[in-house]
This record gives sequence, C-alpha cells and structure tokens, in this order.
Amino acid sequence: MATVAFPTKLPGTDSARSAMDADALRRGVLDNLICLQARPPAIATPHDWYMALAYSVRDRMLARWAATIQTYAAQELRVACYLSAEFLIGPQLGNNLVNLGIEDNARAAMQSLGQDLDSLLALEEEPGLGNGGLGRLAACYLDSLATLEIPSVGYGIRYEFGIFDQEIHNGCQVEVTDKWLQKGNPWEIVRPNVAYYVAFGGHAESGVDEQGRYTVRWMPARMVKGVACDTPMLGFRVNTCNTLRLWKSEAIESFDLQDFNAGDYYQAVQEKVISETLSKVLYPNDEPEAGKRLRLAQQYFFVSCSLQDMLRLLDLKGEPIARFADMFTVQLNDTHPSIAVAELMRLLVDVRSVPWDDAWATTCRALAYTNHTLLPEALETWGLPLFSSLLPRPLEIIYEINRRFLELVRRKYPGDEARVARMSLIDESGEKRVRMAHLSTIGSHAVNGVAQLHSTLLRQTVLRDFAELWPERFLNVTNGVTPRRFMLLSNPGLASLLDETVGKGWVTDLTRLRTLEAFADNLAFQQKWRDVKLANKKMLAERIGHVTRIAVDPDALFDIQVKRIHEYKRQHLNALYIITLYQRLRRNIEQGVVPRCFIFGGKAAPGYAMAKLMIRLITGIAEVVNNDASMKGRLKVVFYPDFNVKNAHFIYPAADLSEQISTAGKEASGTGNMKFMMNGALTIGTLDGANIEIRDEAGSDNFFLFGLTASQVDSVKREGYRPAVHVERNEELRETLGLIADGYFSRGDRQVFRPLVDNLLNADPFLVLADYADYVACQERVSSAWQDPVRWTRMSILNTARSGKFSSDRAIGEYCERIWTISPVRIALDRG
Ligand SMILES: *Cc1c(COP(=O)(O)O)cnc(C)c1O
Repeated sequence: MATVAFPTKLPGTDSARSAMDADALRRGVLDNLICLQARPPAIATPHDWYMALAYSVRDRMLARWAATIQTYAAQELRVACYLSAEFLIGPQLGNNLVNLGIEDNARAAMQSLGQDLDSLLALEEEPGLGNGGLGRLAACYLDSLATLEIPSVGYGIRYEFGIFDQEIHNGCQVEVTDKWLQKGNPWEIVRPNVAYYVAFGGHAESGVDEQGRYTVRWMPARMVKGVACDTPMLGFRVNTCNTLRLWKSEAIESFDLQDFNAGDYYQAVQEKVISETLSKVLYPNDEPEAGKRLRLAQQYFFVSCSLQDMLRLLDLKGEPIARFADMFTVQLNDTHPSIAVAELMRLLVDVRSVPWDDAWATTCRALAYTNHTLLPEALETWGLPLFSSLLPRPLEIIYEINRRFLELVRRKYPGDEARVARMSLIDESGEKRVRMAHLSTIGSHAVNGVAQLHSTLLRQTVLRDFAELWPERFLNVTNGVTPRRFMLLSNPGLASLLDETVGKGWVTDLTRLRTLEAFADNLAFQQKWRDVKLANKKMLAERIGHVTRIAVDPDALFDIQVKRIHEYKRQHLNALYIITLYQRLRRNIEQGVVPRCFIFGGKAAPGYAMAKLMIRLITGIAEVVNNDASMKGRLKVVFYPDFNVKNAHFIYPAADLSEQISTAGKEASGTGNMKFMMNGALTIGTLDGANIEIRDEAGSDNFFLFGLTASQVDSVKREGYRPAVHVERNEELRETLGLIADGYFSRGDRQVFRPLVDNLLNADPFLVLADYADYVACQERVSSAWQDPVRWTRMSILNTARSGKFSSDRAIGEYCERIWTISPVRIALDRG
C-alpha cells in the first residue's frame, strides 16, 4: 500500500474546527451558528442548530478531504470513476458522525446547548437523487470505496428536484415536488471553476487539417455549461474522504439569435428550454424508460462533463493521453451513462486527434458495464430521429463503431446475417433505434450482472450473442449493501449486542458475524436478541401511529414489503394473501392464529397506472381490515407513506419477515433483501435475484421458499399461461378475487379495481395467480414457525450470522480485483 506524507497540517488539533471532543464540537457549533448561519443562539431555530452542527461535522471532514485530493493528485495511481445517473445517498449527518466516530460527543455537545441530537438528525432533508435500488447501490458503493481506501469519484447529476415526496390522500398516491435544496445543503461545495461545455444539436462538418488528416467538427446549435457540485464521501474510521461530483447545468446564453434569425424559432426555444431544465428533475421511473429527449440530454450532459473532467485531471498530472486507461477505470451503472462509449471516442478522436484504433483500445480498456435489468421494457433504446437531432456527432461515431463491429461479426460468422441484425447497435426491426446495452457491451472490457442468476440469464438471453463472441468479458458481481448505514447507524441496539458478542470488527469485516452461530441456541442470548427486535418494533409502531394514525401492536409479527411498487415485485400477491387470511379469520373467529401486522411502503412511478392501483388496493384492504373490530389484536395492514432512505432506517431493523416475492427471473438482485437479512428478518421469497444466494448462505431451513423457478416461469409462458386454471382449482382464490371485483375494498365501487382483476385473470406477465397457492401455503409455514419463539429466534440469529457475503465491501473488493485492478491508497494525516 502506497503512503505519502501529507505536508498540510490540520488546523491546530484543539481548534473548534478539528478537535473531536465534545467541548470543541460545542465551540464549533456556536462558531458556525454565528459565522455561517448568522444567528444568535437565543433565537436560533432547530434547523439553524442542525445547520451549525452539520457545518461543524463537515469542518472535521475537510482536512481529510483535502488530504485525499492532494494524495490522489500527487501519486501515480488509478482512480475508479463510478458513473451513475442516480445516487440515493440518504441523510448525511448521522452517517458522517458514525464514520468519524464522534456520535456520542456530538450528542453531549448538543445537549450542553439544550438541543437533542435525534431531533436535529430528523430535520435533515434527504437528497432524493435516485429512484430506488440502483441509486442506493451506487451510494453503498461510495461508502465501501472510501472505507476500503480506494481512490474513486462518483459522477452523476445534481437534480434540483429529486424523487417526488409521496403522500397518501383517500388511499391514493399523490406526488409532491421534492424541494430538497430549499433550506440549503451544508454538505455541498460548488466549484464554479470546475466547469465544462457540452454541445447539443446542430450538425457535424468533415474536413482535412494541415497535416492532411480527416477531421470532423461538430457545429452545435447550443452549448450548456456543467458546473461541479461536490459532496465529501468519508470512509469509516479512515482518512479517505472521496468525492461525489454531481453536475448542475447552466445556460450560457439566454437566446440563440442565429437560430432565431434563420427562422427556426421552435428549435431555438426548444434548445434553450433544454439548457435551463437539464438538471432540474430526476425522471421518476424505476424500471421502464421514459424515452424522453430531455432524459437523453441529461445522460449525455453528465457523461460528457465527467469524461472532460478526467481528461483535465490527466493533463494536470502531465500524463499523455495514451495513459488514460492506466489512470482511470470507468464503471457504467446500467446503460444510463453508456453514451460514454461514443463520447470518450469523440473526445479522443475529434478533440485530441488520437487515431481511431488507439482511441478504441483506450475506450474499451477504460470502460466496464454493469447490467441491472432483463425486463424488455427497461432496456434502453433511442429512436434515430431524436438521437440525431440532439447528438448528431456522437451518432456518427456510433455508426462507425457499428460498421467496424459488424465487420468483425461477419468475419467470425460468415453468412449469418440474422446474427448481424441481432447484434447491431441499430435495431432495424421497426422504427430504427440505438441499442444502448449493445453500445455498452461493445465498448467495455467487462460486463457484469448483479447476482448469479441474473448474470447467467444475461448471458443466455439479452446479451447471448455477445457472450458467445466474448465469453471472457462476462462475469458476475453480486450486489451488496453497507453495514455502516444499514446496521451500525440504523440499528444501534443490534450493533452494541454484536459488539459485545463478536467484537467491533464486524463493521468492516461482516464475515465475522459467523461467530454468532455459536449463540443461536443460547437462551439468554436469544432473549437479548428478541429485546433488541422488540425495541425496534416499538419505535416503528410509534412512527406508524404518528404518521398513519393506525395503532399497531409491537408483539405482532411484522411482515414487511418495502420497495418500489411494481407488478414484477408483486405487492398484489401479498395483498391477495392478506385478503385470504382475513377471510379465514372471519370464518373462524376463535382459531388460534398468529397476530400479524402487514406493512407496505414504496413509490409508484407517476405514470404507472397499475402500480398506483396496487397502492389503492393495499390502502383499501387496510381500511376494511383495520376497521373490523373482530380483527383487533389479530390483523393490521399499514401503508407507510414516502418510503425513502430516511424512513428505511427504522423500517428494516423492525422487520420479522422480509417479503421478496418477485416473479422468478425478474428481479436482477434486490438489495432490500440483504438489508432485512442483516437485521435479523427471515425471508419469504422466490428463487429470484440474490434471494437464491441469501438462501444458500442462510441455509434452506432458515428461509421460506415458494413459487415457480425462473425456468418454470419460462416454460409456463412458452406453453401459454392460463390464469383461469388456477382460479378454477382454488375456492379461496375465487373468493378473494370476487371480493375485490365486488367493490369490497373500494366502498362498493366495482369499477376501481377492474383493470387490476382483469389483468390478473387475462394478461398478467408476472404469473401472480400461478404462485398464489404455494405462497399461501408458505405463509402458513411462517405462522407456525412464529409460534415457536425459540425456533424463530434461532433462525433470525442465523440469518444475521450468515449475512456477511452481502456487505458492499465484499462487492467492491470484487470489482477492484476482477474488473478495475486497483488497490487501496492510505491517506496520511499529519496532525503536526
Ligand atoms: C434498498 C432500497 C431500495 C431497494 O429495495 P429492493 O427491495 O431491493 O427493491 C429501494 N429504496 C430504498 C430507499 C432503499 O433503501
């Protein structure tokens, strides 16, 4: 590991800006309250105190940040650049306190100022710069990269409005604009001097330069300026403080008179609108692509700024362009940044005059691509008219890449024109479209899926021809999540029990949790385990009461499904079971059953009618069940509004049962499943995504498995799925669907849920009814396991004990070794 003595001293270690003790923190907070917030303590609002504390914590990160930047600048090293359209980083204050190791001191400092730390933490607006799993994964990876001391930068977009806030009105989702920047963002440092221009529209002109070389100049219709907005990403108890660099767009001219004079008024206005709205708002679709012009503009904008930034850093270091791939390894988080393949080629060939073949070698060596979905509706393609009008020069480059690539395919598979058409960068089957997954695959040296099953299916389906051509390019890196945020920070009760049982090292080496196995049958330990869980459930129950006015019993089995609302995730399958259970309970009032509380959370894309209807069904069931006096103490249903990282902090630790019930083959990995497991929830799930590996690790006795396998799903579909068969066979299913159709959960309205019921009965690609009976039977096994607390607790302990594989530290370790070939760099901090 390389070490460099860092010459800059921290401001004196006893200073109010850098010392870690409670007294120095207290002085720092008072200083910042006055010097940055301009507030005398007597009239400071809680938010002022939050800001003053946040700045004081940031002060303590800045010397580490500066030391990290300087070390990376001074040394010969490779930097991992993680390109992602989304970073769902969650609230920063609590996490930074934990990583600095000064949570207790901060609590004492604030107490001495008459402030409660937890109340201040609750005030932080979370940066909602992502939709769900993909953006949260990127954030977990930044945490692990810093903790593992890997030189790295996260590159993305600074959306002014992130994912909408969700409210529930009359049982329906209502979207509210997320104004996360309104009260200021203490974690962000804007760098107006780090800015790049990005071209859009116009046309390309070819010519010959003085040396007689063929050159192309892009004559854009408009330029947009991208300005760097940096957020420090501190590792856990290390000096490494990496950067999350998000680009915000600025218009550089208010109107394009040239376009106007030429008479293309519409074009001029359109382009102006684009420059001003480029980084305004995150597209709220989780899986399917919106296919909007502005979205493509966003992607190109942040990718171009990021690559230009790397080239500038290369120049600053005095390295030749040929060394680009030695200095940078660039990971594409899904196809959203895949235009990087064409843009790096453009920057190298057009701007830096690198010969095509050298540029191509550099590009492929630098880039690697992570695929996140096999859902056909989520595979990104762009229609040619849109693409060429927005990005004429990158499109020409894509054509040239394609021409050379198809030549190679034809050489390797002579006469196989069907294969050529399948593999082409341009889909010519209907309206011509650019295939972004193909572009990423052709331009990368490594392509990975995010769980074993997903990587296997990727090779067999979506990228089959490519896996045949380049088998060595394909690999799997199963996702992971950070135990700092999702255990230490959000489940402090569990964390201290683990500290005293297995030692503190688990936080950065999660495999050490294996030691817990020895305590699984220890009754005294089991009691402590249950005490922790119960305390977490009480906290969640309190929040539920506060937010929804529903009273839930912390002793009930907490059965939780939180994730984006989507047909493939099958929240409606869960809903069908609840109705079935409700009918069973009503029929046999005395039956000794397990009291259950079903908790849902998740946002639906605003334009996704079926997902919104699924929310209505859940809230409709909740209304009926929770108001039925005979269900008191037996059954409760809760839809917890606005599922986000902040709310996730107290939801995952309170779960007894984790619902991971997607149609097999549809969930690439899932990461919520891992967060639940670490926090001791048992999983009821299908053999899908990382569930398979979770079950492998936990042991099949400690996992509630049901449902068709991916290959069974496949054959059902090939033979023709007939939902009616399942309805005919199953009296309870008939009754359940009948109640929904009769308006039982919609105050008598028989129209509301018709599209949902019709879909299940006729055109459901996610085979809900095919898995219904097995799911119901499996839920009965869950209930009987719950009735034996010793057995349940043992299973819960074993799940946590065996969750080590799912740390994002393991995942990042694999990326470093197998894709990036990059190693840690220790950041020295001279305390003078
Ligand atoms: C982990 C997480 C997700 C992803 O959940 P899945 O169950 O894997 O779909 C989505 N949103 C938030 C806020 C998360 O923390």
